[in-house]
Amino acid sequence: MLFVSEISVDAALTDHLVLATLHTNDAAGAIPRLTNMGVDPYLTTSAVGCVVAQRLVRRLCDDCKTPVQVDEGLLGEIGFPFEWEDPEDGRPGFFAPAGCEACGGDGYRGRIGIYELMPMNGEIVGLPLERSSADEISRAAVRAGMVKMRADGLLKAAGDHPDRGGASHHGLVNHGSAGKHIVKS
Ligand SMILES: [Zn+2]
Repeated sequence: MLFVSEISVDAALTDHLVLATLHTNDAAGAIPRLTNMGVDPYLTTSAVGCVVAQRLVRRLCDDCKTPVQVDEGLLGEIGFPFEWEDPEDGRPGFFAPAGCEACGGDGYRGRIGIYELMPMNGEIVGLPLERSSADEISRAAVRAGMVKMRADGLLKAAGDHPDRGGASHHGLVNHGSAGKHIVKS
């Protein structure tokens, strides 16, 4: 009997684009998960091009969300991985839920996706063969520039939101990876 994992890997190895879903905590978790499912780690390195992890989180109601000042100490406590490159830009623009007619008094309306994207390249390619843990793979991915799902969520909470245009997040710098890069400018 062929398992779905075997069929997917066979198809990917024969030049088919395969989109498959797994339930794991993060993108890196997909690699040991495949091994646990019986996929040969050598095949994982050849067949997997990229892993995207996603989670849907509640979104504040645009009609009633209220700006709040979040001090630097709290940003440090929650591990906020970005800082403003130019202090003149002020602090990240966080909001708190309020409640209005549009959201039924809830303060939230709809959901938004938070993501992390892990391409299988560089250092990461060899890690399945070493039977590395999800944590080790995740750390390697962050070193290669991956923005973790939690950081993506914090960035979105800080105002990197499609509805808010480009000006509000000018100068956010990511300190989460070795090669400090500007996430938005
Ligand atoms: Zn509302």
